Amino acid sequence: MAPFYANRSCDPFMPVDSPCQIGAYVRYAINVTEPADIIAGIEFAKKNNSSGPGSLSLWTHHLKDIEYITEYKSEAYHGPALKVGAGVQGIEAYTVADKNGVVVLGGVCPSVGFAGGYTQGGGVSILTGKYGLSADQTLEFEVVTGEGKHVNASKTENTDLYWALSGGGGGTYGVVTSMTVKAHKDAPMTGASYSFGTSTDGASMDKFYDALDFLHQMAPGYFDRGGYSFNIYSKGSLSLGVFFGPEWTKEDTAMFFQPWAERLESLGLQYSLNITEHPSYLAAYSSTGNTVDIGTSQSGGRIIPKDTLLNKRTQFNQVIKNVVEDGGSILEIVVHPTLEVAGNPDNAVLPAWRDSAIFLITTTPWNDTAEWSQMLEGQKTITKWGGLLRELAPESGAYLNEADPNEPNFQREFYGENYARLLSIKNRYDPAGIFYALTAVGSDTWTQSPDGRLCKTNP
Ligand SMILES: Cc1cc2nc3c(=O)[nH]c(=O)nc-3n(C[C@H](O)[C@H](O)[C@H](O)COP(=O)(O)OP(=O)(O)OC[C@H]3O[C@@H](n4cnc5c(N)ncnc54)[C@H](O)[C@@H]3O)c2cc1C
Repeated sequence: MAPFYANRSCDPFMPVDSPCQIGAYVRYAINVTEPADIIAGIEFAKKNNSSGPGSLSLWTHHLKDIEYITEYKSEAYHGPALKVGAGVQGIEAYTVADKNGVVVLGGVCPSVGFAGGYTQGGGVSILTGKYGLSADQTLEFEVVTGEGKHVNASKTENTDLYWALSGGGGGTYGVVTSMTVKAHKDAPMTGASYSFGTSTDGASMDKFYDALDFLHQMAPGYFDRGGYSFNIYSKGSLSLGVFFGPEWTKEDTAMFFQPWAERLESLGLQYSLNITEHPSYLAAYSSTGNTVDIGTSQSGGRIIPKDTLLNKRTQFNQVIKNVVEDGGSILEIVVHPTLEVAGNPDNAVLPAWRDSAIFLITTTPWNDTAEWSQMLEGQKTITKWGGLLRELAPESGAYLNEADPNEPNFQREFYGENYARLLSIKNRYDPAGIFYALTAVGSDTWTQSPDGRLCKTNP
């Protein structure tokens, strides 16, 4: 039986007198202020055999330097760029970019790290429909490898490491100390927020699914024009829908949503729709409130290709219905990462992203005070729904940054055809296997014993 990874370790939000266990968390962390700290940490970990749960971590949070580069010049790219330290969070990068009249592609919540797991794992931004994934924007990294060497990785230096760090997953090949990414000219953006709902009896739910289907079928009309949305819904209620249209006007957006509003009216559903035009990306971004309570659910999900959305419409709707009727909430990111601006970058992004229409995340609630067995049931349910999604879109994959850790065959589902090449790069830059994460490339050479310690699969 597969292990389960629900986690009730001590966290800083618990009352100080409440008993708790450290669980799979690291025991010690080095507060990194310069690459030498990382090199020393790696040396220590190697000497003391300290890797995996309960071991040593490198805390890069305070590497906060941000430098705006008016004109970055390389063979591959001429233009504005931003160099960020590994501790820079999305909102910090957005603020500096905004002051310089440009935008960069970070996560939807302001606190998500920019150069760490987010970009290294692919990175889906509000601007992904316009400029590509965040991993498509990388120009160079400064990184300390598993052998303790501080190196540059770019299209001309350590090219294989650069390829892997651009989409092949965080915490695997080295510790990034800084990342330089493309910046793009800022532009006005229109945002819309919407919701609708009904009671949960059979006839009303038919109308609810009809309105949802209409919204989904409209999606190519905006994601093929650079638009992005996220929708959060459960039985009888789409509680939050947010749309961003880069360079769309308010009039464009109103016209676009008009048929959907008419459909809701003809179905007799309660709804809200508010549309606002903003002068810049940061203004539009800040208008949404854009924080999600992440500690309140367990999640899994799958990338739904455009072909599935359009040509397997009945099956797609049926899977959504099954999850929702089974008590699930869905958070979906509707976006098609464009290749027009970033081109088709040769990087380690999961190829399934290139066909994406909807990244669908299923969730079950997490309640800190509920029975542990109930929480594990929630986790099993996520994995069960993952099976429905796999059946619906077997050729696609799952987003490693927001996936079910129990996803079977994670090597294929998270990394696709890139896995073998990524593994050889992992073995080259981290031959001792000093970096470990549960579903990272090369993690299958280890098994976790019940106390969390790591043992070599084939010693
Ligand atoms: C509230 C919230 C909102 C989110 N929104 C989005 C979104 O809009 N789009 C999206 O694509 N994803 C989103 N995510 C998912 C996000 O991409 C992942 O949680 C990602 O792992 C975050 O990376 P981090 O570095 O901040 O996190 P961490 O938990 O610190 O790190 C994640 C992994 O990356 C490794 N890592 C961290 N720093 C480095 C480094 N400097 N060098 C090498 N490895 C490193 C860690 O070892 C770990 O394995 C969101 C997550 C949350 C919690």
